[in-house]
Parts: sequence; structure tokens; C-alpha cells
Amino acid sequence: MSQLEGAHMTAEHRATQVMEKIQTLASFSAMQDGILRAYLTEEHRQAHQQLARWMTQAGLETWQDEVGNQWGRKVAANPELPTLIIGSHSDTVANAGGYDGPLGILLAIEALDALQDTELPFHVDVVAFADEEGTRFQTTLLGSSPVAGLWNPALLDRQDAEGISIGEAMRHFGLEPDNVAQAARKPEETLAYLEVHIEQGPLLESLDLPVGVVTAIAGAKRFLIDVSGVAGHAGTVPLPLRHDALCGVAQMIATIEAFATEHEIVATVGKCDVRSAAVNVIPGQVQFSLDIRSQSQEKLDRCTQLLMQQLATIGEKRGLNVVHEQIYQAQAVPCSDRLQQLWAQVVESATGKDVCYLASGAGHDAMVMANLADMGMLFVRCEKGISHNPKENVQTQDVAVALDCLIRMIQSVSSYQTGTC
Ligand SMILES: [Zn+2]
Repeated sequence: MSQLEGAHMTAEHRATQVMEKIQTLASFSAMQDGILRAYLTEEHRQAHQQLARWMTQAGLETWQDEVGNQWGRKVAANPELPTLIIGSHSDTVANAGGYDGPLGILLAIEALDALQDTELPFHVDVVAFADEEGTRFQTTLLGSSPVAGLWNPALLDRQDAEGISIGEAMRHFGLEPDNVAQAARKPEETLAYLEVHIEQGPLLESLDLPVGVVTAIAGAKRFLIDVSGVAGHAGTVPLPLRHDALCGVAQMIATIEAFATEHEIVATVGKCDVRSAAVNVIPGQVQFSLDIRSQSQEKLDRCTQLLMQQLATIGEKRGLNVVHEQIYQAQAVPCSDRLQQLWAQVVESATGKDVCYLASGAGHDAMVMANLADMGMLFVRCEKGISHNPKENVQTQDVAVALDCLIRMIQSVSSYQTGTC
């Protein structure tokens, strides 16, 4: 790999530094073996202080915003110029690995360190969002939402397991809850939002590719489905006369899997509960969950409707009552076409290989940042697709490729700004 512009370090050397910094960041944890870094905790404060030191070393101006996100800016000569924002999240789930979130932040800091001597026609802000996973207050994307102008003040009353509200925790952290909305950035001053993240799935590894261009963040719907039949004696009721709720649910689950395969969506039954279950009782009541996702909102809506009809038909044929309740939904968010095109160009020149386009099945800060500006994401291969697990792993050479792509991408955005790509 070639020497990087404006620096005497190779991408491999810089990638090694990123990996070391990820290890350092992992030490700011409330857990011993896995990682736990939740919003508005001492670990949050220490991790952001460390990130701020690295940002300063990369020549960035640093500050903490009104939500507790950590920012670093590569300032352009002309203050009137717009800003390219690059970021990811610094918080984790419980028993997390080290790469989900921090990889995107540290790659951005490292890329700007490599570009310290390069004058760009825009400011570049790196942001570490303080709360994406929602581990402490069960509310996701809390760090990025106010930045994207989507703050809901009612959330200040939301409490953690100890009964401490977000508002109280903010004050304790040194933040003023009434000022959160001031974290909002202006769309007209924002050029684009970029995020590099581990894939958290096995596709890139199966294709033997280090990185891939994200097309969209999938929309999701979640349901609880109650199936009622007739409970009865396991020895006395002949099979043709039964209304066995669990047999009906078994057929429904098989149908869901076949339907998802046929329509190229993902659908998962993660919970299944037989009520008043006993070894000698025909199941009368079963509740199961359904999580269904697609990168196309139109397809998600259509497939959900079709699938629910099929489940209802199974219920009718078996004399079962089927009732579904939607408990969650998130809209599908497409990545900007032009940013996908630019990522594809830089990935092609950095790797010399065909470009893999893939959708994100998981949510990211980029979902809400799309509300502020054009949004583009790059995924990095992770071992066996394992994530939210201490076994999460990424290869240093893949980090080097991702860094090379990000540096090229930042430079390419100049052409994006002037519309010449
Ligand atoms: Zn993440």
C-alpha cells in the first residue's frame, strides 16, 4: 500500500494504531470481561476525555455538546464553508465487543490525522455519539437524535433501573437538560454525514471482501401474535378434533421462514410462549413474536400484509383465533445514491475488486442523521459476523483498507460538494 498523503505513516501502521486505541477505549468499562459503557456514566466521561485527547493530537478543535456527544473539528480556512460530519457511537450494550461504534470514530480521527496538512474546501467534524444502543435508559439513538433536530423533551423523565431519570443523570454529568435542543446542527451548513461501522453480519466474510457499500438501513416491524385454540386432554381428544394452538404456530413459523426466503426479506420468531404448558395438555394458548425487516419500506409494508393474511388462513383452517399486535416499527432509510456512488469508486480504487452493496439489518446513528443531511455508510468485515459479544473481531488489514477508503472518500467529497462527481 502506498504512503499516505501529508504523512509518513503507512495505512498498515495507522490501522495498527487504530486497533491499539480500540483496546485502550475498551478499558473504560463497567464490566471486567466484556465491555459495558453506558450513557452519562463515569466510563462515558473517561472514554470521551480520551477521545478528546486523540482528537487534539490529530489537530482537531474539540468540544462536548449539550447531549454529551464528543466532537472534534478540522477547521477550514474559510469559516463560512459547510461541514462534513463523520461519526459513530461510543456507548455499548452489556458484554459488548470493542469495535461496534468505536471503530468508526477512531477511523475518522485517524483519517483526519493523515490529512492534517491537506486543506479541504469544508470543515470536517468527527463525532462520538454518547448513546446509540440505549443500554441504560432503553431509548436508542439518543446521542444523534438532538443533533439531527429530532429531540423529544418528554424523554428526560425516562428512568434507568435505579430510578434515575435522564434529566437527573444529565445534571449529574454537568449537562443542562433544558439546553439539549441546542445540540441541533443546521441542514444548510451540513454537507453530508458519513459513518464507517462493522457489518455485524456474515456477508462480507462469505464474499471474502474487506469492506462493502451500504445501500440502506432496513426498516423493521415487530409484532406479538396470540393464537388461541382449545386446551384438552392429551389422551382423550382424537387429532382431527383438536384445535392445537402450538401445532398451528409450528405451521405458522415454517410459513414465515418460507415466505421470507421467497420474498428476500428477513423474518424472525425469537420468542414463543406456550401458556399453561403441561406435558399431558393440548396447547390452547400460544404467543409468539415476529420481527420482520427489509431495506425497502414499500416491500416491508406489502410483505407484512401478505404474511399476516397467510397466518390468518392457517388459523382459520385449524379453527384457531389469531390476533396480532404491532409493538415496534422503524422506517427504512435509504443511503444517498451519490454517496453510494462515491464510496463505490473509492472502494474499487482501494481494493481493486468488485464492489459489494449491502443493506444494514441493524439500526445506526446514520438513520437519524439522514434527517439532517445526505448520509452514506461503509461496512467493514467482522469475523463470522459476530457482534454484541466479547468475541467481536476485526482484522487489522481490513481496518487499513477501511482507513484508505475513508481518506479517499473525504477527498472525494470535494467533488460531491461542487457536483462534479
Ligand atoms: Zn453500532
